[in-house]
Amino acid sequence: MRKELLEKLRAQFGSDLQEGVHMSNFTTMKVGGPADTLLIANSADQLADLVAALWQMDAPLTVLGSGSNLLVSDKGIRGVVVINHAHNIKVNTHTDPISVWAESGALMSNIGRKLALRGLAGMEWAATIPGTVGGAVYGNAGAFGKETCRSLIKADVLHKISGRADWTCDQLEYTYRASKFKRDMEDAIILSALFEVVSGDQQEIQSSVENYRQRRLRNQPPGPSMGSVFRNPPEDKAGRLIEAAGLKGTKIGGAIISPKHANFIINEGGAKAQDVLDLLVLARESVEKKFNITLIPEIEVVGDWESIPEFLRNQQASKAVKE
Ligand SMILES: Cc1cc2nc3c(=O)[nH]c(=O)nc-3n(C[C@H](O)[C@H](O)[C@H](O)COP(=O)(O)OP(=O)(O)OC[C@H]3O[C@@H](n4cnc5c(N)ncnc54)[C@H](O)[C@@H]3O)c2cc1C
Repeated sequence: MRKELLEKLRAQFGSDLQEGVHMSNFTTMKVGGPADTLLIANSADQLADLVAALWQMDAPLTVLGSGSNLLVSDKGIRGVVVINHAHNIKVNTHTDPISVWAESGALMSNIGRKLALRGLAGMEWAATIPGTVGGAVYGNAGAFGKETCRSLIKADVLHKISGRADWTCDQLEYTYRASKFKRDMEDAIILSALFEVVSGDQQEIQSSVENYRQRRLRNQPPGPSMGSVFRNPPEDKAGRLIEAAGLKGTKIGGAIISPKHANFIINEGGAKAQDVLDLLVLARESVEKKFNITLIPEIEVVGDWESIPEFLRNQQASKAVKE
């Protein structure tokens, strides 16, 4: 990082500015080297203020929620990482439709569980997602045939060009696991979101949450991961293809293609980001060679890499491949 930028950051943020913190502490894969600098936002307004100040300084910025959809390089992230801990959730049963408002650092799983306890239906699937509202709105997270855009009414967004405003679902132009922001790599930060739910039978809702939880326990491997590494290609499953390419259980360094579900890469302990990247590339190349199908990564690759394959460089440049 430029010395003068670092000095400006130190002057502006004082002891709130952390330096050289390893990103393995902030990612579910438990890999990733040091961030030059790191700040934590504890409310949506604080997040907006921090981001506006950083944009003003022209500081390279990466905003992270739970770090559950990311592979951060061993060399870490240059510039400033903002970790989003803004986690308030408010349910309003007096609106029509009934709504839940949440700051963007709130966990989707907390929202799902809270709603189930209140007998409110529509977001049961969210109870099993390990990411934040910000990550879900940005990437249209979904599970069990449901997705974020089906429940989202609007999101409060700070956009580098157009400023702070509410964005509706239509404006966010959702597609499978992507929003306009993700596809076009726009400088836009989700501050909070409003979702609609409906009232239902509390026992039924809780039992469907439990059913989803059990299905995950049955089908997904334990251990540090990023969830599904690749999107499912049309009419097929990425996990089935990787397994059929003979790669279940393949290890590089401390990382392994899960013997339980081949679309998961697990950190068995001491994995490097490079080990994970090498497995990801191996899986993609093997499936392409054997089945002539090109897998598209669901995860994002972030940070400062020695060398990175073309298909991920494109993704880094545009953050996600267009549908
Ligand atoms: C075990 C496991 C199971 C999973 N299962 C599923 C699943 O069933 N379905 C599914 O969709 N995903 C799943 N995931 C992936 C992941 O949980 C989701 O993609 C989630 O929405 C990512 O949220 P996050 O807060 O972790 O985002 P991060 O990983 O922190 O960030 C992902 C991207 O979102 C951006 N971002 C985050 N917050 C904001 C914000 N406030 N404003 C703007 N941009 C932001 C980041 O800059 C980054 O580009 C799983 C992951 C794991 C580890």
